[in-house]
Amino acid sequence: MVFQDLHAHTYYSFDSDDRPEKVIETAIAGGIKTLGITDHNHGVGLARKSLCYYKGTDLSTDYEQTLVRYFDHINLLKDKYRNKINILRGIEVATCVGKDNYALPENADISFFDYCLVEGLDKANSITKGDIFAFAKRCGCTTGIAHTDLFAFIKSIGEEPFRYFRKLAEHNIFWEINVNLDSSHGFKAYDYATEFLKNKEQQDVVKKSGVRLSVGFDSHAIREYKPERIKSACTVIKNAGIHLVFEGI
Ligand SMILES: [Zn+2]
Repeated sequence: MVFQDLHAHTYYSFDSDDRPEKVIETAIAGGIKTLGITDHNHGVGLARKSLCYYKGTDLSTDYEQTLVRYFDHINLLKDKYRNKINILRGIEVATCVGKDNYALPENADISFFDYCLVEGLDKANSITKGDIFAFAKRCGCTTGIAHTDLFAFIKSIGEEPFRYFRKLAEHNIFWEINVNLDSSHGFKAYDYATEFLKNKEQQDVVKKSGVRLSVGFDSHAIREYKPERIKSACTVIKNAGIHLVFEGI
């Protein structure tokens, strides 16, 4: 069994202080074989702002460069730890527009990442407008739907679950089972994930559709990391005959 955690944050996210090396070493110690670093697009942007402040220069329009620098750093770490763990270079994409507008800017290029995790698909103020197929095309890299109750979302848009999952599979869009349980989420598990991991009927729909899943702990503080939650979710999914995304790498 190859355990994958495709959702982890580092100090590139505004809501985590963890050094990327520490995040990776904690995952290695926890027996994780594939780890995806997925800092928030807007967190990377804030890191850029503090750097500009420090340097006394104005690079406020330099969004693209910041994404590239983050990618390059994770890429160096991928190489450094290659004999111990497989690191994937990901990004978590905010899509909600509001008072604090963190949504991915229209022209920001994220196509060079290994994958992205899209949040807010089911929110009324999301720039996805509930259309993950069009948005995945805009992202240009393998796309996953982060911490979303997809069965509830599918029902809310009047679609049929199997048909919708089948379409996701055809577009190579995966669905994240988020198994977080830490202080940044109030030590509350996601109900949809808890349900899916015990609901054979839902598992069967997903299996037959051919859609792939990811498992993510969504770590924001490594001292609260619980790799056993990743391992047990990966095991349930594999035993249900469902494929994980990025299997076999
Ligand atoms: Zn996250």
